[in-house]
Amino acid sequence: MFKNYLFRVTLGLLLLIPFVSISAQDRFAKVEIKTEKLTDNIYVLFGAGGNIGVLVGEDGVIMIDDQFAPLSEKISAAIAKVSNEPVKYLLNTHWHGDHSGGNENFAKKGATILAQQNVRKRMAEGLTRSPERVTPPAPAIALPVITFSDEMSLHLNGEDILAIHVHNAHTDGDAQIFMPKSNVLHMGDTYFKERWPFIDIQSGGSIDGYISALNHALFLVDEETQIIPGHGSMSNRAELMAYRDVLSTVRTRINKALSKGQDLEAIKAANYIKEWESYGGGFINNDTFVETVVKSLSK
Ligand SMILES: [Zn+2]
Repeated sequence: MFKNYLFRVTLGLLLLIPFVSISAQDRFAKVEIKTEKLTDNIYVLFGAGGNIGVLVGEDGVIMIDDQFAPLSEKISAAIAKVSNEPVKYLLNTHWHGDHSGGNENFAKKGATILAQQNVRKRMAEGLTRSPERVTPPAPAIALPVITFSDEMSLHLNGEDILAIHVHNAHTDGDAQIFMPKSNVLHMGDTYFKERWPFIDIQSGGSIDGYISALNHALFLVDEETQIIPGHGSMSNRAELMAYRDVLSTVRTRINKALSKGQDLEAIKAANYIKEWESYGGGFINNDTFVETVVKSLSK
């Protein structure tokens, strides 16, 4: 009986392992990297995971975020179509694997990785969210080698690249990357266009920090700024302002409900997000977002 059980478990695992890896490979095999030109020397790459910003020129390629490791070859091929230079610097907007999963591959090809100091710390530590959701510590080569606390500037390819830390927003290590001469802003996951943001409370994120980060971006941009969101298509100041207003309204409503003593169930039933239910079609559904806001405001 016991032997039979063991056999079944072993067989189950043997069947499961190749199945899981094949489906993961499949998922990335189908991904196409699409390149959109923003200026003479700045491009955005869409694939699976966070949007990638690319600045090209004679000083080498500067890359912002790198999606998942299995996509590194495709991403390199897409970059090779717009520049003959190697990736010299790679900036991570934060530590999540859909933005930094390619770090090891690009570092091995010679890229120097930069990020806010909490990105390095969190990648080095890893995170157990639940028994099923474990992010192991990243290998040393994948870690940022140059880190900063509040801000950092690079002066390459005729551009000033400003990486500015915004506090406790999506995580505790977010940076918004602004290139003022070209008027392009990469917001990382401090902006999920037209969908609810993931606010990673376990990584130091908060709703109030998130709204502050949106306000920070609004302070940097003007009507002409091309805004690269962490997820979603290209955006602009008007859309960003509308998004800030949505989050700010939801935050005010839920905070008022909490101060009146409403609990999570009552808040969900009151449907304070009703005008924007379509925002729940992405990674974060309506209930999850409301739960996160309640949790963040109750801290
Ligand atoms: Zn993220």
